[in-house]
Amino acid sequence: MTSRPPVLSVRGLSVRFLMPGGRRIAAVTDAHFDVAAGECLALIGESGCGKSVLASALLGLLPANAQAAGEARLGCLDLLTADERTLARRVRGRLIGLIPQSPAAHLTPVRTVRSQLEETVAALTGTRGRAAVRVASETAAERAAFPTGHLDSHPHELSGGLAQRAATALALVGGAPLLLADEPTTGLDRDLVDHTVDELRRHVDSDDHEDGTGRALLMITHDLMAAERIADRVAVMYAGRIVELTDARTFFGTPGPRHPYSRGLLQALPQRAFTPVPGMPPELGDLPDGCAFAPRCERASEACTALPSMSGQVACHHPHVPEDLRA
Ligand code: SF4
Repeated sequence: MTSRPPVLSVRGLSVRFLMPGGRRIAAVTDAHFDVAAGECLALIGESGCGKSVLASALLGLLPANAQAAGEARLGCLDLLTADERTLARRVRGRLIGLIPQSPAAHLTPVRTVRSQLEETVAALTGTRGRAAVRVASETAAERAAFPTGHLDSHPHELSGGLAQRAATALALVGGAPLLLADEPTTGLDRDLVDHTVDELRRHVDSDDHEDGTGRALLMITHDLMAAERIADRVAVMYAGRIVELTDARTFFGTPGPRHPYSRGLLQALPQRAFTPVPGMPPELGDLPDGCAFAPRCERASEACTALPSMSGQVACHHPHVPEDLRA
């Protein structure tokens, strides 16, 4: 890790959806985090907790009924106030490489993977000449373990895993300073998961972005094994809020996370207790005033009717205290 400024700096990011009848959905609330050059931050949490909405906000891809507030700086650019022309021409693909959550839908259906890769290589890398572009595209495919024998397939001919690998290959082409990977291991078997996250790690560790900012990865995932393999830090999201942000070694090792929800996520893993977090996440349109995890939390008390603020690395009135911090 270096002392360079963060690649991405998010401050007070909130997203509200305005629904018919005046209902407001609090999809993301007051998110604060940085992603440093050379760092991988894994953003984890159950489906529907706001992770992908946060990613859409960073890319300027929120629907028309959404309102975003706060700040998200990528270098000197505030992604939340950038106009669509800037986002389309400078940000998507060039400054932020996106591995989307639904790769099959993201690929152009009427064109082969090869033609989409070749177009991206020519547009983002300056490679010229048919033969050179073809070689660079096949190299890009290999990096993402996309078999060259499928390069002339159309997206509808690909399995979910192959579409995932095609999307990963496309995202890596431009060498963007920020890679935003939204569930990049969906549909892959464990060997390919390992290959994919190792390739993402290599992308972050390589330090050759032209403007010297370094590279960073924000990986949104519910695959905790993939997160453990790649992440430097882990941010845990629950009901639209980041409730814990900590070093990955501490999170996955000893003493482990401090927020009851984070501990529950780990205990749900088959190689741990294989016990799911009890209950269901709350409706984002009907959140309580206090801690949204309280109905599922065995540590809840009267104090939890007040919203816990982030103190240090955790937002909880009764966080687990590691043995060595106990009086
Ligand atoms: S604030 Fe209270 S209810 Fe919420 S996670 Fe902490 S102990 Fe549980």
